[in-house]
Amino acid sequence: MPLVPLLPIFHRLNREHFEGSLVVQSQPVLAVRWSDGRLRKTAGFYRHIPKFLAPGKYEIVLSRPLLELLPQSALESTLCHEMIHAWIDLVLKLKESHGPHFKAKMAAINSSQSIFQVTVRHKFPVPRDYPRWWAICPKCGLRSAYFRKVQGAACKQCCQSFHGGTWHSSCLLIYEPAKRED
Ligand SMILES: [Zn+2]
Ligand SMILES: [Zn+2]
Repeated sequence: MPLVPLLPIFHRLNREHFEGSLVVQSQPVLAVRWSDGRLRKTAGFYRHIPKFLAPGKYEIVLSRPLLELLPQSALESTLCHEMIHAWIDLVLKLKESHGPHFKAKMAAINSSQSIFQVTVRHKFPVPRDYPRWWAICPKCGLRSAYFRKVQGAACKQCCQSFHGGTWHSSCLLIYEPAKRED
């Protein structure tokens, strides 16, 4: 999907799912923009723009590197997710992240159309730039992060201390999937 202008989609979603409440006197109550190339770990976010940049302003930022590779439905579901956050904050004026108001709005939007589905966590492929595995030494318990499993890798330290520096099967590393924290 090429980078499309976001405002027309914002206006349509606002009319269809937010009763027009995110536009006041034909001005959106917040800015909507594409990120630069660095926003890779999240599909999008809603925030208060830091005061020193623009006091009292809000924005939704969508990840260019993540969403430009995906169909438009991914863009709409992400934008809609962030619009629910903006609606809870600016229209309902509640402090809530993925709480009951968020989930009720999400369910209403999902049941009203079948073009996209809003989810609490996005399920898009994220560039794999974090370690997938813990490699654990069964002898000394040392844990290290690995991007991929290395077959036959043994703990260097233990081969050194117990086997005169030669590879030994008793020091074979055991792999455990690393959980991503986000
Ligand atoms: Zn969210
Ligand atoms: Zn070891």
